[in-house]
Amino acid sequence: MTLYMLRYSEISLKSRPVRRRWEDALIRQLKDMDKECKVWKSNGRIWIKGEIPRERLKKVFGIVSFSECERCALSELSKHVLDFCERKGFSKTESFAVRVRRKGTHDFTSQQKAAELGALIQKRFKGPKVDLKHPTKEVFIEIRDDDCYIFDEVIRGAGGIPLGVEGKVVSLFSGGIDSPVATWMMMKRGCEVIPIYFDISPFADEEARRRAERVAEVLAEYQPSFRLRVEKHGNFLNRVKNFLTPKGLERYTCILCKRRMYKVAEKLAVKEGAKGLVTGENLGQVASQTLDNLSVLDGACELPVFRPLIGFDKVEIEGLARKIGTFEVATLDVGGCKAAPRKPATKSKLERILELEMELGENP
Ligand code: ATP
Ligand code: MG
Repeated sequence: MTLYMLRYSEISLKSRPVRRRWEDALIRQLKDMDKECKVWKSNGRIWIKGEIPRERLKKVFGIVSFSECERCALSELSKHVLDFCERKGFSKTESFAVRVRRKGTHDFTSQQKAAELGALIQKRFKGPKVDLKHPTKEVFIEIRDDDCYIFDEVIRGAGGIPLGVEGKVVSLFSGGIDSPVATWMMMKRGCEVIPIYFDISPFADEEARRRAERVAEVLAEYQPSFRLRVEKHGNFLNRVKNFLTPKGLERYTCILCKRRMYKVAEKLAVKEGAKGLVTGENLGQVASQTLDNLSVLDGACELPVFRPLIGFDKVEIEGLARKIGTFEVATLDVGGCKAAPRKPATKSKLERILELEMELGENP
């Protein structure tokens, strides 16, 4: 059985009741990953005994880092550290460092214990130098009263705060590069996200929907309850086109299309008890994403609309998409929207849009 030590940061800054709630949420999510494993908290750490693969632990929000460790009593520490180092190939290493942290009452300091163990390692493996700055190998020891934990790796976790502790949001999820990243960022800050995809066929290829489903599968690795809702949006878009084209007002197609997406998403949010919407919109990335247009979109619903990508450059968003694991699928070429006008309006006015909507007579 593997023993994991999990570290979290922001949870520890919270008041007691919040802290408890967040820790419990995290523990519940870890237990749900594998019913066989044991999960508990003690001393500001969460512990797992079981076989959850590292790659899965890396996708749990709220964990800053974790280590696979071995436990022993203080009286056996020296022997255990030497055995541990033997298994980790210290006999062939050029240099090493021993890092000790300690909590409780002991008759030694952390530095003294590190020096003592360092000397033993040198003696046993004949040769490796102590190098505290750039060692080839490290051994970490955490001493808590009489319990000692030994490990040689600190693996970075997803960070953030536990999933769901902030409540739910509905994400307008296209499956392109941006909206999955925006979705992930809300998850990272404690939101459980409900994704909705608007299927605009016949104005998009069937592949576009397939892509959204595949990207959603990647995000389900971070949030197991992540399940794509699909809303048929093609008929509406067709009506918008037939309504605007004879008037020479095709430039408003995207605004009307998007405003209905917001309205439908808000309905879903109310039904699900979600507190806001999320989109992958950004400022100035495409012609239609102007401050004027975004505020006209905001006027389509009452719930707050979160746009976590607003301040990012495209390359930064791509970097995040790679890190999250959505980039590859999100960049599959599925063709664009066939209803999009050549020159979308960049400065729409809410009054004008409301007039058009009234005439169109559309209620989601
Ligand atoms: P993305 O990379 O997320 O597809 P984009 O750069 O293509 O975004 P737009 O097409 O203007 O930009 O879309 C802006 C946002 O509107 C998207 O990030 C997403 O939140 C939402 N959106 C667009 N199309 C859809 C769709 N078919 N289903 C659900 N949401 C959508
Ligand atoms: Mg897109």
